Amino acid sequence: MSATILDGRALSAEIRGELRTEVARFRERQGYPPGLVIVRVGGDAASGVYTKAILRLAGEIGVQARLEELPALTSGDELRALLLQLNGDQRTHGIIVQMPLPAHLSQQMVADTVAPAKDIDGISPGSAGNLFLGLPSFLPSTAAAVVEILDRQRIPLAGKRVVILGRSNVVGKPLALMLLQRNATVSVCHSRTRDLTALTRQADVLIAAVGRPRLVTAEMVRPGAVVIDVGINALPEGGIVGDVDFEAVREVAAAITPTPGGVGPLTNVMLLKQCVRAAWLASGLEEEAPDLSIPQF
Ligand code: NAD
Repeated sequence: MSATILDGRALSAEIRGELRTEVARFRERQGYPPGLVIVRVGGDAASGVYTKAILRLAGEIGVQARLEELPALTSGDELRALLLQLNGDQRTHGIIVQMPLPAHLSQQMVADTVAPAKDIDGISPGSAGNLFLGLPSFLPSTAAAVVEILDRQRIPLAGKRVVILGRSNVVGKPLALMLLQRNATVSVCHSRTRDLTALTRQADVLIAAVGRPRLVTAEMVRPGAVVIDVGINALPEGGIVGDVDFEAVREVAAAITPTPGGVGPLTNVMLLKQCVRAAWLASGLEEEAPDLSIPQF
């Protein structure tokens, strides 16, 4: 058996089309576009590439996005002042602060300062708390991308066994809550989990978000399982692979995301989708908005 390939690029194109229409409608109704600001303090080449990708995507769908680039020596007070100013700016609907920050700046300060209504990547304790309680919330965009793929492919989750590898705050943990809310039976594995294979072999849906090239081998996958690979690993010899041994696992799984071209292309799209939603909510016209919700429970 060769697995169905879950094509993230095709899904991304589909959602981008929906967002273009939605942004045009918002603009017509409000007279201005949804607004996004990316704050970057110092930052390396990789974060520059990431920032450019978001700006390009925003431009493509009609969201007005700009980059606030601060020097690496920016103080906590200066960063906080900028965030407060953006919180008060009516044309800024979503704020993203590029991580990682320089060591002297506190990620927690950022999470506590960005207004909950503009926290479109779901990083704040308030957003995480809402997710925990099953209340509508902005969601970490990578975790949201995984659920979007499962939803759009109509992969049933209720009553299914889902095994997640990785417990980070941006992927594994929020994903576990989102899938629990979908009535899946969820196990979360991590670096201290023993006998990983015994657990992964039970999975109807196996999600790898670890950051280790080809950690998941064919023997770890139950025949017929759905496999979602979040990992992005640069190989020393060049090239990018996921956490899943794609060529071997595709012979066992029923469906699988490739890397690249799986979860990756959807992550920024989910961020922009949440920005458009934030704009509708801020305008007080939520009922005008189509259901843009990524699993709003
Ligand atoms: P992280 O380093 O914060 O977390 C990794 C997790 O893996 C930890 O919870 C750790 O306990 C667990 N882990 C480590 N070794 C393990 C093992 N042998 N078995 C099971 N679990 C183990 O990483 P992250 O930020 O969650 O990212 C994970 C991967 O996803 C990385 O490759 C990253 O590049 C990728 N990623 C992709 C996107 C995307 O857009 N597709 C976005 C974010 C992260």
